[in-house]
Amino acid sequence: MKAIGIDIGGTSIKGIVADQDGRIVGETKQATDAAIGKDCILANVKDVIWQLLEQHPDSEGIGIGTAGRVNVNTGEIVYATNNLPGWQGSNLKEEIESVFHRRVCVDNDANTALIGECWLGAGAGCSDVTMLTLGTGVGGANRIGGKIVRGAQWNGGEWGHVILVPDGRPCNCGQRGCIEQYISGTAFVQTATEAAHIQFPSGVEVFEAYEKGHSAVTSVLNQFIDYLTVVIHNIHLGINPQTILLGGGMVDSKSVWWDMLEERVERLGLHISISAAKLGNQAGSIGAAKMVWERL
Ligand code: BGC
Ligand code: ZN
Repeated sequence: MKAIGIDIGGTSIKGIVADQDGRIVGETKQATDAAIGKDCILANVKDVIWQLLEQHPDSEGIGIGTAGRVNVNTGEIVYATNNLPGWQGSNLKEEIESVFHRRVCVDNDANTALIGECWLGAGAGCSDVTMLTLGTGVGGANRIGGKIVRGAQWNGGEWGHVILVPDGRPCNCGQRGCIEQYISGTAFVQTATEAAHIQFPSGVEVFEAYEKGHSAVTSVLNQFIDYLTVVIHNIHLGINPQTILLGGGMVDSKSVWWDMLEERVERLGLHISISAAKLGNQAGSIGAAKMVWERL
């Protein structure tokens, strides 16, 4: 049996077709164009699904991971920040089921990434795992006793909006000082741009500047590691998972900073295990496909 897995992020929509052994037999990708609004995001999601169904018309269900808080029973987006305008309140399950006439399951994108990593990646064999995705935003997910913990209002695991700096940077959620404003890929590039007075197009160029020894950028990377260490420390004490998984775009450059992080975490003197996600930017879509079978 095959299922479609879709991952709706702040920047791009990634789609795959997987079989039950975890083989990826089809894939495609498209920009989210989130700023244009809900109808545009939906049209892009449908486009991705059409393309995948054209290649694999025998796909039996569609799993979707999306930024925002999702009522997994109804498929409604109960909360989304203002970088996905109009997304809050929409019922993604109904919208997609009515067009494709296939079973649709929806969940938060970090939850589906963790489901994917626990199936085929760095969380395999672990019952207690917390995941952080450091990308456009910061996604978070907790799996405790083998189950994703979604909470009473579906915001369980939303580490990205836990406050790290009182009265700090304004966040898309309306609060100030959220974790997302300090350790997301977006925040990293923004902080480096401000500190070095260089318009960095993406994190890759920031890491290049670091490797050339740019002093302001070096301070920015050190600050990123400090904040990430605090977050990891708090997760360790609050949840005490077997391991804390880090995924998202920032982890693509982990060869530059992973040793610094390990060294700083070790200095805390706690026995904390941190691992890099293994499925890269496909974790969310693979987990979304897996969800289809889990809920059958
Ligand atoms: C959203 C989360 C999402 C994360 C990663 C955050 O801004 O609030 O729901 O999981 O971005 O996409
Ligand atoms: Zn926030």
